[in-house]
Amino acid sequence: MTLKTKINFVRNAILSPVKKTLDVTLRVLVPPACPLCKGVLAGDDGLCAPCWQDLHFITAPICQISGAPLDVDLGPETVSLAMQKNPPPYEKARAAFRYEGSAAAFVKRLKFSDRPELARLLAPFMVRAGQDVLRANALLVPVPLHRRRLLGRRFNQAAELCRAMARETGNEIVFQAVQRVKATRPQIGLTRRNRKRNLKGAFTVPKSMKDRIQGRSLVLVDDVLTTGATVEAMSETLRQAGAGRIYVLTLARVVRPEQMRAS
Ligand SMILES: [Zn+2]
Repeated sequence: MTLKTKINFVRNAILSPVKKTLDVTLRVLVPPACPLCKGVLAGDDGLCAPCWQDLHFITAPICQISGAPLDVDLGPETVSLAMQKNPPPYEKARAAFRYEGSAAAFVKRLKFSDRPELARLLAPFMVRAGQDVLRANALLVPVPLHRRRLLGRRFNQAAELCRAMARETGNEIVFQAVQRVKATRPQIGLTRRNRKRNLKGAFTVPKSMKDRIQGRSLVLVDDVLTTGATVEAMSETLRQAGAGRIYVLTLARVVRPEQMRAS
């Protein structure tokens, strides 16, 4: 045994039980809480059982373009009727969960609290849902908040999700690929045409970013996809600026019945 191994051996023999006792004491004093409902957790991390059961994963069969779940399984290449009729300006979109139950609670928490560990808990689910879109050389692009909203809310949850995913996949992030130059009013309640009008000129690609995105595959990342109008407007702007293939990856998405029709 060398001197160094001896020292390590002694150090571990003394310190490791101390650390273990401290961990146990801390767990008794402050038991780990579920990040959603604050209920006591049985394990070290993750969600409590009721919150876990209220997560609605999006699983196959899905539309190859929109990523929405389909009402019948017609094979892996199926494109929903909605996407056949109105193809989007991006290649594919994927989401881990339906925007309901625990996933909706997650989105709310991400928006209103600065908690990077929440994003880290969610990133593996996004990476798994995004297998079709997260190419090794793709750049992650967070959907930007308008500057004024960012000030009020302190941080951008989409950027936080990008950081957490990049830790797992090693993809590069481009934070300022697109800027929101116009504060748009909320999209809820607007018709498709009015949503488009509302977002016209909302985004721009700064001159300094044009070289960076030229011909590159991009994955637009956001917490939730509701109407899809935002990522459509972003995709159009990025395409005009010379980006290559554009994909969309969100934590959750709204699923409307008409988006589920496969035939
Ligand atoms: Zn819970």
